[in-house]
Amino acid sequence: MNLQPPPIHVIGGGLAGTEATWQIARAGIPVVLHEMRPLQTSPAHHTEELAELVCSNSFGAQASDRAAGLLHEELRQLGAIVIQTADRHQVPAGGALAVDRAIFSRDLTETLANHPLIELRRGEVRQIPPEGIVVLTTGPLTTDPLAEDLQRFTGMQYMSFFDAASPIVLGESIDFETAFRASRYDKGDADYINCPMNKDQYLHFWQELCAAEQAELKDFERETAKFFEACLPIEEMAKRGEDTMRYGPLKPVGLTDPRTSERFYAVVQLRQEDKAGNLWNMVGFQTNLRWGEQKRVFRLIPGLENAEFIRMGVMHRNTFINSPELLESTLQFKKRPTLLAAGQLTGTEGYTAATAGGWLAGTNAARLARGLEPVTLPTTTMMGSLFEFISSASPKHFQPMPPNFGIIPELPVKVKNKRERYGKYRDRALNDLTQWRDRLLTIPANV
Ligand SMILES: Cc1cc2nc3c(=O)[nH]c(=O)nc-3n(C[C@H](O)[C@H](O)[C@H](O)COP(=O)(O)OP(=O)(O)OC[C@H]3O[C@@H](n4cnc5c(N)ncnc54)[C@H](O)[C@@H]3O)c2cc1C
Repeated sequence: MNLQPPPIHVIGGGLAGTEATWQIARAGIPVVLHEMRPLQTSPAHHTEELAELVCSNSFGAQASDRAAGLLHEELRQLGAIVIQTADRHQVPAGGALAVDRAIFSRDLTETLANHPLIELRRGEVRQIPPEGIVVLTTGPLTTDPLAEDLQRFTGMQYMSFFDAASPIVLGESIDFETAFRASRYDKGDADYINCPMNKDQYLHFWQELCAAEQAELKDFERETAKFFEACLPIEEMAKRGEDTMRYGPLKPVGLTDPRTSERFYAVVQLRQEDKAGNLWNMVGFQTNLRWGEQKRVFRLIPGLENAEFIRMGVMHRNTFINSPELLESTLQFKKRPTLLAAGQLTGTEGYTAATAGGWLAGTNAARLARGLEPVTLPTTTMMGSLFEFISSASPKHFQPMPPNFGIIPELPVKVKNKRERYGKYRDRALNDLTQWRDRLLTIPANV
């Protein structure tokens, strides 16, 4: 009697798809990995290899008391093939985990292609397969036919094709000697953080913003940006005139200093991004400025002099779904639990986060095939907190999120020193992950 379940289909052989495929095969389930390259290519990819790194060759900081480094360590503990392969093909890069990209991708391609349970099928998938267990990992440049089908499946309003995001600042790095909590005209519960400016401060900020260096948009991004006229970059708004920002996102009306009742010349507002109130989004500050320039110019804003940026502002092509509306923290679609998604398509950001999503979606797809309950990770881990964030953030303002310590639950006892606190987050995460993994081992799975 043949007890082999039917194959799971993974669509997209990037970082998330490669990891998901490996975890499924590792659990003993046959899997078909669909990758359109080289028959069709994306505007950012250049090779036919799996897990191609489209831009930088770095997976971010290695130290395990850094957000990216902790995620690397968690993935090593869980046997993620992408990180194990990255470790093998590392090149010197200071404190970062950087790889020889050609050897890294070729190694992964060969390893997957040689696995007896993996079929690598080249060709574009234009529709979500209507039956069976399917994992979608087609990334930020998902092709149009599949994106349209996904729109039909999810509802038009739950897909984004362009990421016009403002920087996100860590709340504890804001100086509340200057900044204050209030809502315009005192509506709501002092929901915003306000950074006030006098005329001299505003004019200095305006001049520096107008002169700051912009990042180059790629052709395909320039095309997409045309459809996004409502979302003007802050530097473009500044260039339209000295006062344009004061009549837009920096308008000071309805806000007075609660300590002195003073009125201001301009005010930058920050809106809460996460439930715990650790992350704050600079309202209206979507931007094309280079990252170094963003840090330099935005730190001229009173109250943000020492701001720690969790995510810089971006304006680029990025197909992603509204995960808080659509996904469980297991990465299953609420509407169809046998359909899962991972990677940039789900609103996580970066290579390592995509790998982590692939691990969880692959693991859960395999568990479904075996008739087991899908799992979530402890929210005290970087992986668990990331998937908790994307599945429970505010759907109204949902923007992609990289791994960071602002989304991890607080420690039971406050630790003031940042490096020490991050070390304790790391210790708790790795301890909780080990226990979780060992418990999972008692149930047949792939860990
Ligand atoms: C221009 C650009 C630069 C970036 N630079 C960086 C960076 O430097 N560092 C960083 O951490 N992140 C960067 N990112 C984000 C990056 O895309 C992700 O971190 C990572 O690649 C996401 O992995 P993924 O598996 O979700 O998607 P991808 O790696 O893009 O993989 C998706 C795969 O699906 C395939 N595919 C798409 N549609 C179909 C279809 N219909 N049928 C079959 N196959 C399909 C694609 O060919 C691709 O192989 C960049 C993104 C872009 C667009």
